[in-house]
Amino acid sequence: MGLNVIMMGPPGAGKGTQAERLARERSLLKISTGDILRDTQHPIALAAKAKMDRGELVDDETMIAIVRDRLMRPDAERGVILDGFPRTVAQAEALDRILAERDNGPLIVVDVVVPEQELVRRLASRRICSSCGTNADPGGTAPACSRCGGVMVQRTDDNQEVVLERLKVYQHATKPVLEYYRGRPTFRVVNGAQAPDRVAHELDTLIDDAASVAVPLKTTSEGSL
Ligand code: AMP
Repeated sequence: MGLNVIMMGPPGAGKGTQAERLARERSLLKISTGDILRDTQHPIALAAKAKMDRGELVDDETMIAIVRDRLMRPDAERGVILDGFPRTVAQAEALDRILAERDNGPLIVVDVVVPEQELVRRLASRRICSSCGTNADPGGTAPACSRCGGVMVQRTDDNQEVVLERLKVYQHATKPVLEYYRGRPTFRVVNGAQAPDRVAHELDTLIDDAASVAVPLKTTSEGSL
């Protein structure tokens, strides 16, 4: 039986770092929609760039098609860690339908909570690798990527004006997704303002706990998925 985890939370909450670790340690596929859109080889990258640079969302139809395609490939069979998807209620509804079709284990939703002031502070100093997209370690100032040696740069959408727009978009488009999931027995909240190791430890515990009460999506009482 697989396991599917959604990492929810605002930009800068540390979802990507934790998603990467979880995927590695649990041998699950990480799907980061932001990383997919930033991959200049991806056919949608060029069209998405203008929206991303303004801090706006790419349209639901495109995002759902990208995630559906990724989830249907064999390497997603054991389960996935989703980072950056779903960001709207329409995406969450579509994901429920896709996961019910795949029928490969429960869905656990984790909300990583961090105060807005701290998010703004983190995003202002965040650096990613210009070659492979890896995030610098939190607080890290190394000029070269620890994975591939590439140059560390600021993301074009991490400047202050765009950050404020992304936080606004998070409030009106993505916060409702938390309400969509909150009533489920597999919904969990973690304090993302703690040290990354502490967040990791708590995440592991709450994911194991949620998995123990989970039932596959197909058989939940939501019925009309
Ligand atoms: P992220 O790396 O998750 O912060 O995403 C960077 C940008 O990619 C976002 O600000 C959006 O412009 C776009 N994006 C990523 N995921 C989605 C999604 N699920 N729906 C719409 N736009 C997205």
